[in-house]
Amino acid sequence: MMPSARPLQTHIPEHDRAPGLWSSRNLLPVRRRQTGADGTRKLLLELVDGQSVETVIMTMPRSHTLCLSSQVGCPVGCTFCRTGGSGFVRNLTADELLAQIVTAGEELRAATGRWPERAVFMGMGEPLLNFAALRGCLETLTLASGPHLSWRKILVSTVGIPDRLDELGRLRLALPAVSLHASTQDLRDRLMPGARAWPLRELIPALLRYPLPGRERMTVEYILIRDANDTDLHARRLHELLGDMRAKINLIPCNPVPGGPHRAPDRERTEGFATALKALGRTAFVRRSHGPDIMAACGQLRARHLADGTGTDSSQETSP
Ligand code: SF4
Repeated sequence: MMPSARPLQTHIPEHDRAPGLWSSRNLLPVRRRQTGADGTRKLLLELVDGQSVETVIMTMPRSHTLCLSSQVGCPVGCTFCRTGGSGFVRNLTADELLAQIVTAGEELRAATGRWPERAVFMGMGEPLLNFAALRGCLETLTLASGPHLSWRKILVSTVGIPDRLDELGRLRLALPAVSLHASTQDLRDRLMPGARAWPLRELIPALLRYPLPGRERMTVEYILIRDANDTDLHARRLHELLGDMRAKINLIPCNPVPGGPHRAPDRERTEGFATALKALGRTAFVRRSHGPDIMAACGQLRARHLADGTGTDSSQETSP
């Protein structure tokens, strides 16, 4: 008797997809490569003009996420960020953004046999200041014939540029995450001097009118800095600033920049801040830092590379 035919597989699992785009682009040379104790991988990728950007591959229990850079350097100049301290060099092109994704995707595939399921633009640069290239990249990234990442699994982290947020909302190619970090204009101006052009009085209404799908909440990022923005009073001001916004607040203990002025609060104060927000009815999480042993905060690997002055090694495995 003939064995019965196996049913046709009509659903291709996420991890079995090998979409054309992943292998159709030129890979970027890897200048440096680090792997942390928690499995986080950090790459320093070389661009055609010799500049470099960082890309992080984060491994979580149920998915793999690429953390991507949108610019070489950054013009916003946040005082808690190594990239901000190194100035702005240039935007990445849409092709470079895609090549970055493909290179990191291939790296992940080689190590784990999986393709990434999520992408976040949270690395070097302010993505909404490189909007045309970002849009081109997102259009390809979400194509059914390409990597086909769901637009709801792509997060664009921004300091908040109201008219670009409006456009992102119309395009539905990604979801936003806003980097707030302060609840008053004065403090925000000091922590994020380059964001002065988009004051809170314009940013908050833009976030309130953002067309989030379904039950989705606005992601609000808040870096906790000891003695700067970490008291219960700051938590109350943050709550009042957000008003009616449906938001989930990610609290990120500051990852100190070597030689920089800022430190993270201790664990007790960090939890206290989260508790104060929850008591006010807010949804708040303390975000685990990925790869602290390999300096996963953006800009630190590139800064170390520039300081070393080693521009020729294309595959160096560096120790933490
Ligand atoms: S935190 Fe983001 S926006 Fe601020 S300087 Fe760094 S890369 Fe730019």
